[in-house]
Amino acid sequence: MRFISVNKQSSTVTFREALLAGIAPDGGLYVPETISTVDAKLFEPTPQSTFHSIGTELLSPFVEEIPKEELKSIIAKAWDFPIPLVKLDERIYLLELFHGPTLAFKDVGARFMAQAMSYFLERRRQDLTIMVATSGDTGSAVAHGFFNVPHISVFILYPSGKISPLQEQQMTTLGGNITAVEVEGTFDNCQRLVKQALNDTDLQRDRTLTTANSINLGRLLPQITYYGWGLNQLRKNFKQDEQPLVVVPSGNFGNLTAAAYAKWMGVPIRGFVAATNANDGVLNYLHSGTFVPRASIQTYSNAMDVGNPSNLARLQSLYANDVQHLRRDIDAVSVSDEETLQEIRRTYEKANYILDPHTAVGVAAARRAQEWMTNTPPIIVAATAHPAKFLDVVKKAIDVEVPLPAALREAINRPRHSIKIRGEYSEWKRVLRESKM
Ligand SMILES: *Cc1c(COP(=O)(O)O)cnc(C)c1O
Repeated sequence: MRFISVNKQSSTVTFREALLAGIAPDGGLYVPETISTVDAKLFEPTPQSTFHSIGTELLSPFVEEIPKEELKSIIAKAWDFPIPLVKLDERIYLLELFHGPTLAFKDVGARFMAQAMSYFLERRRQDLTIMVATSGDTGSAVAHGFFNVPHISVFILYPSGKISPLQEQQMTTLGGNITAVEVEGTFDNCQRLVKQALNDTDLQRDRTLTTANSINLGRLLPQITYYGWGLNQLRKNFKQDEQPLVVVPSGNFGNLTAAAYAKWMGVPIRGFVAATNANDGVLNYLHSGTFVPRASIQTYSNAMDVGNPSNLARLQSLYANDVQHLRRDIDAVSVSDEETLQEIRRTYEKANYILDPHTAVGVAAARRAQEWMTNTPPIIVAATAHPAKFLDVVKKAIDVEVPLPAALREAINRPRHSIKIRGEYSEWKRVLRESKM
């Protein structure tokens, strides 16, 4: 299988090329040229099927360059934590995607990307330097994903004083091949430094530089697995044979794009609800047929505060820009901050389950879908983060102590290391130059 840019102005590439380049030379996002269907038997609830086996089957058509046995071992190294489906009530199930080291679903994609890159570098005896500008969650998932991965050194650039203490702790306490760089200024300054280094031919003589942001296919494709695995557990553990509705709390729409790929590949899903916060541009697009990008609005579910989601281009490409067709598969709901708090409260009182604000947006959207549908099918909500990551919001809704998971307790006690720079390019270049590979 080959991959093509949504802008259609660059030639097609292999998975390896798309993975190492990130974005196409024409500035577009890479998408699969075709989506192949898989055998429906894969989703039969046999006791042998696991997150790993389903992932191997769903991903192998995309990564033909990696033999299946190797793919299996990449997956086993990347996904060393469980992804359980839990029942919230008669109709709603939560797919808990947050049991990785940084307690959010981004671990799944970031860890796969890291192992896949390492696989290709190892075979060519190459080394790679990865730079990531982050406003919070992406940086910690990428840092943990690449920690101790051979052939790769990583620089995480974050804006000083503008990320949560917990996020900073998660990024700055690893050491080894991970260097945290604290930049005076904003996220945009960090991004500018990364771009400047990418365009610096002088630097590129010494080392191969790339970036690992959220639009990389290596992070997107592995997420297809959630939906095959969620369905499998629904059938196996809860004896639900109906095609479920799937609700995805969405910001940049990568997770929802992966869900749509899963349906196109044959995972029996009735349809999707994109659950968004006040950043409702995609909802308006589905209703009006015209997308209007906006500045992002700050909300309690801040990892979904995206005004101009980059993966919308991928969804449009999948549905050949036919908004009617998109609308048949995907609906959208916008949930306010007030409703988010209400949902955290309600779910805690009714089910004794503590939702994080992002998953709460999803559950609130699921309840809305239940109201408008007759004969509601079972609903799977992607639970995207652990509540302990967003204690301040959870505490606004309910008066409980959320126990800290082991991963966080450990991070809190480790000493921090970061290199502080004022934000001039020359300073950043010196940091890169002086670091060993
Ligand atoms: C990134 C993130 C999202 C949004 O996912 P997209 O793929 O960008 O739509 C939702 N919830 C949490 C907790 C996240 O970190």
